[in-house]
Amino acid sequence: MKILVPVKRVLDAYVPARVKPDHSGVVLDNVKMSMNPFCEIAVEAAIRLKEAGQAAEVILVSAGPAKSQDVIRTGLAMGADRGILIQSDDDLQPLAVAKLLKAVVEKEGTNLVLMGKQAIDGDNNQTGQMLSALLGWAQATFCSKLELAGETLKATREVDGGLEHLDLNLPAVVTVDLRLNEPRYATLPNIMKAKKKPLETIAPADLGVDVAPRFKTLKVTPPADRAAGVKVGSAAELVEKLRSEAKVI
Ligand code: AMP
Repeated sequence: MKILVPVKRVLDAYVPARVKPDHSGVVLDNVKMSMNPFCEIAVEAAIRLKEAGQAAEVILVSAGPAKSQDVIRTGLAMGADRGILIQSDDDLQPLAVAKLLKAVVEKEGTNLVLMGKQAIDGDNNQTGQMLSALLGWAQATFCSKLELAGETLKATREVDGGLEHLDLNLPAVVTVDLRLNEPRYATLPNIMKAKKKPLETIAPADLGVDVAPRFKTLKVTPPADRAAGVKVGSAAELVEKLRSEAKVI
């Protein structure tokens, strides 16, 4: 079985996002970019299935600018086998990405897609759901536990107030949550080896996909500054302020 893992290049999770002065988006020039953390978890899950002898190949795919090959190389250094870069400088919205991924799934003949539950840049949480709908496949979102038993996938989902246990028949799309695993760090020898692993570059047009945007971002604004706090002298004063000023009691 081949596992396809879509990985997205995003602003590094530890870099504070700054809104562009013209409010058209977030500053991405000259800032550290990394693999989306949820995608790293999906790569780790796929590699573990391969190490357990349950998958033959782990293929990474990223859609975006040429620099997205960096995140593919990171995943190859973690242990994936090969990568596909769908190179495009366009604004690739979730529906466009889902259509591109569907075309790759069909080209590669994969029957399991493991992906992040959301990309931390747009927080869309849409691509996996759209991909499974386009393919007509089973889906399990927000997975915190995953076991493969033949053609059945046992998935545990994090839902409000608890856990949901699902049995899915392959083929399936699974989106992963934070608690599924702790991704490994790539070792230096593996980073060197990854440079020689195959990485194919294609264009959206090679897959016959129209990636025209379906919505327009009107404005991006930073969160409002928080007002400074005040120190109170006593519990009585606090209760008084909560009653008369905050009006919460
Ligand atoms: P989103 O729906 O944008 O929150 O993204 C959810 C997941 O879809 C990500 O964790 C990735 O696995 C995948 N994905 C989204 N955009 C891309 C992209 N441009 N290239 C590859 N994978 C992507």
